[in-house]
Amino acid sequence: MKALIEGILKFQKEAFPQRTDLFKHLSTTQHPGTLFITCSDSRVIPELLTQQEPGELFVIRNAGNIVPSYGPAPGGVSATVEYAVAVLGVTDIVICGHSDCGAMTAISSCKCMDHLPAVAGWLQHAESAKVINQSRKHASDADRLSSMVRENVIAQLSNLQTHPSVRLAQQQGQLNLHGWVYDIETGSVEALNGATNQFVSLAEHPETCAHCSTPINAVA
Ligand SMILES: [Zn+2]
Repeated sequence: MKALIEGILKFQKEAFPQRTDLFKHLSTTQHPGTLFITCSDSRVIPELLTQQEPGELFVIRNAGNIVPSYGPAPGGVSATVEYAVAVLGVTDIVICGHSDCGAMTAISSCKCMDHLPAVAGWLQHAESAKVINQSRKHASDADRLSSMVRENVIAQLSNLQTHPSVRLAQQQGQLNLHGWVYDIETGSVEALNGATNQFVSLAEHPETCAHCSTPINAVA
């Protein structure tokens, strides 16, 4: 805890004074353009890897970057998606999986989770990805995990599109969906091409999109 308190003091002394105008502007309003959904993993920092400032990303983080399908008893993720899309009017949603994901490792290796009933229940929202991954042959455990991480991103993009607010915004041409996988060791990001269902380097193909109705603004 000492490190966190020292961090607060450093923030107040260094980072905050550099952004006083920004924080004054943000003190009563926010207009984030993107809802970024990723894992709770301590190594995945949305603002760091996308180099975004406060006010620019609306974020959901949970074990396995999961979005439960919309249903009769919507939970916290559903409420946050709805608020981001219907109230804040985000134009893009990114679902970002990552390398060495503990949640995806548990699923892909079929580890017994009897002692983790809440985790086991939560990860059932990735069941369609699990069965697809299990139906495939994998050269190694690492390949099995890598494939699981990607299938999960695809599955969660499908789940996301069961949400009424998301479907409406898509129908109105106001919302683009992106599926990314972040590699912790290299810092590289792969993006899902919705037309081919393949993940490709985002650096080499910055226009890549999973479900887009409008072209991504040109990236230098
Ligand atoms: Zn993870």
